[in-house]
Amino acid sequence: MEHASSTTNRPRVAIVGAGPSGCYTAQFLLKRWPGADIAIFDRADTPYGLIRYGVAPDHLGTKAIAKQFARLFDGGKVTFAGGVEIGRDVPLADLRADHDAVVLATGLWADRTLDGFHDASGRPAYLGVHGSGALTRMINGHPDSRTDDVRLGRRIVIVGTGNVAVDLVRLVLTPGGTLRELGVPERAIAALQDGPVERIDVVGRSSAADAKFDAAMIKELGVLPDVRFELAPSGLESGTASSPAAEAVGELVAASPAVAARLVRFNFGWVPERLTGDERVRSAVFRAAGDPDRQLELGADSVCTAVGFTAAAEDAVLRSTLESDASDLGRGVLAPGLYCVGWLRRGPVGTIPANRADARLVADAVIADLEAAGRHLDPTQPVTALKEHA
Ligand SMILES: Cc1cc2nc3c(=O)[nH]c(=O)nc-3n(C[C@H](O)[C@H](O)[C@H](O)COP(=O)(O)OP(=O)(O)OC[C@H]3O[C@@H](n4cnc5c(N)ncnc54)[C@H](O)[C@@H]3O)c2cc1C
Repeated sequence: MEHASSTTNRPRVAIVGAGPSGCYTAQFLLKRWPGADIAIFDRADTPYGLIRYGVAPDHLGTKAIAKQFARLFDGGKVTFAGGVEIGRDVPLADLRADHDAVVLATGLWADRTLDGFHDASGRPAYLGVHGSGALTRMINGHPDSRTDDVRLGRRIVIVGTGNVAVDLVRLVLTPGGTLRELGVPERAIAALQDGPVERIDVVGRSSAADAKFDAAMIKELGVLPDVRFELAPSGLESGTASSPAAEAVGELVAASPAVAARLVRFNFGWVPERLTGDERVRSAVFRAAGDPDRQLELGADSVCTAVGFTAAAEDAVLRSTLESDASDLGRGVLAPGLYCVGWLRRGPVGTIPANRADARLVADAVIADLEAAGRHLDPTQPVTALKEHA
């Protein structure tokens, strides 16, 4: 790896990961140092991380956030090096040696697993069990995504009551023609809707009031054609507390038609226990959160887990291996000159705007540390381009 010769006192910063947190970090660094030498690396050929491969294709306004980041690259202010996996194609040590600061913005992409639904090594216990990250990558046309073994079938159980679970409900029930217009690949449409879908059970261990989804996401489900929504008996002993999301579920159920070709049932207060099946999954079994003697068994052609994200052992950059007593994660500092930001720093929670605040905090730490070390920008110099990245 080699930069064009840099005889000036210009800070050179490498950002690993071109998702929202990496791009926001570049924006904040450029605000302070308009001519800084910033390169963003991503293992994908194209930038924007989960904006491209996570956010649902019908959430066009959210997808459009990528446009503001495109200005970073179009204007040549920042170099984008796609198809480069740091830690595999380029050692992290080389990147650190060549830059004043390296900011890791690699996110957390692996689906969390569930005891009883996955084996000890994290593999699904049966065919027909899919993580929401894998499914949303498939829907968004991720080049590495495989669809061969995905057939959701007529009866689908979705475990999880966050916004990603609601994304899946909506996308599975959205007419194929609409998905096609949104650019969802044909193979993904077939995988989602070949059943055709008759029933979806959404199951979560919390009450409706404690569910993580936003009320606006629930309201969006109301426009889906030919769907009846029901609230199943709760697995909790009592549940009088409310929340905007719980109220939205109540309104959705009340307004839905008495008869429809597709049924969505919300099951709150049920703890995932195990799956049954032969080669393929046949049912998902849950235990009542408020009474261990009560059990719920739901027949399923497929089970989708939407229970959050985590690091994967095979990740080329693992935060846990880079932390030491010298780390100060409150500022995003992993080691001198090495920082982390976004989901990698905070964990897999929060929407895209939350990464903006995070990026500001970490960019401030980078700026303070480099300036304390006497690195100041010489604004008279043009931005140098990265000559090679491998
Ligand atoms: C399915 C899903 C749907 C979502 N929908 C919404 C939504 O509608 N609205 C909303 O506000 N938020 C949504 N979010 C949350 C939002 O996507 C995250 O808050 C945000 O993407 C986190 O940003 P990040 O930059 O930390 O990580 P990411 O977006 O994951 O970006 C990480 C980047 O790092 C790259 N990378 C990883 N390892 C390496 C490596 N070793 N070398 C080089 N590059 C690497 C990856 O390819 C990726 O491009 C959704 C999340 C998911 C999972």
